[in-house]
Amino acid sequence: MPTLEIKNISKTYKKGTVKALDNFSVTLTSGVYGLLGPNGAGKSTLMNIITDNLNPDCGEVLYDGVNIKKFGKSYRSVLGYMPQQQGLYDDFTLNRFLWYMAALKGLKKKEAREKITSLLETVNLTSSAHKKIGSFSGGMKQRALIAQALLNDPEILILDEPTAGLDPKERIRIRNFISEIAENKIVLISTHVVSDIEFIAKEIILLKQGKLLTQNTGIKLTKEIEGKVFMIKAQTKMLSKIRSVYRVSNLYHDNNDIVVRVVSDTAPDEYNCESVAPTLEDLYLYYFE
Ligand code: ADP
Ligand code: MG
Repeated sequence: MPTLEIKNISKTYKKGTVKALDNFSVTLTSGVYGLLGPNGAGKSTLMNIITDNLNPDCGEVLYDGVNIKKFGKSYRSVLGYMPQQQGLYDDFTLNRFLWYMAALKGLKKKEAREKITSLLETVNLTSSAHKKIGSFSGGMKQRALIAQALLNDPEILILDEPTAGLDPKERIRIRNFISEIAENKIVLISTHVVSDIEFIAKEIILLKQGKLLTQNTGIKLTKEIEGKVFMIKAQTKMLSKIRSVYRVSNLYHDNNDIVVRVVSDTAPDEYNCESVAPTLEDLYLYYFE
């Protein structure tokens, strides 16, 4: 089984004042991992280091026990990377873009032709192959970027916010698609949207201000906050008071009352409340609010 070990990585940008990554370690094997954290947590920094596009200040990345710096080119050949930024190739047709990327990855012509034909099918963009990427919808652009990441049949697939800017239908499509192609690969997906990874990730890695908070299966993570999620029923005028004391994950009006879902280490016994089963969204709130 392929293994990617990320060991004690720290990174401060030259112009940066905070540590983008702070002694971060994690070990990945086959399967989908969700890298969850708010904007600025360090997700893209970590992905740039894993893909050898950025050097850490200290620490190392080992692929099957060997430092990736020692692999050189052959490391790139097992790697597929979908970066976060878009719009770089808007003037290219999709077909030209994929041929260009295939050339960069060193694919032979015949190999490239076969691969591009089959990947266009996989990402359901065959009929758009000769259109300019600039004319694509958000979902089509994301699928085009995923397709280029798969050109070399990567063993390691790094996807930086693959569902950013997508509508719910496109989100579901991309999510299921990633799940399908993930077999026998190490797949790391970054997001700040819990539902993107809740059901497809074998493990979820929570990153906050460059530090690993916790790493576990979704089910075990939600168990961590069992007994810490409550539904309060109160008069509407109490809402601002409740908000000032508790992390509110949800609320709705019920006639003249409000029903407020809160995440708290201690029970809000001063209100009419009941304990409820936690969700991963509650966990996100617990760690990041
Ligand atoms: P995320 O992808 O989780 O949003 P990033 O890795 O982009 O987080 O950023 C982590 C931290 O590093 C943030 O505080 C961000 O402002 C800072 N940062 C990111 N890129 C640069 C850069 N090129 N120069 C200076 N600071 C940066
Ligand atoms: Mg990012």
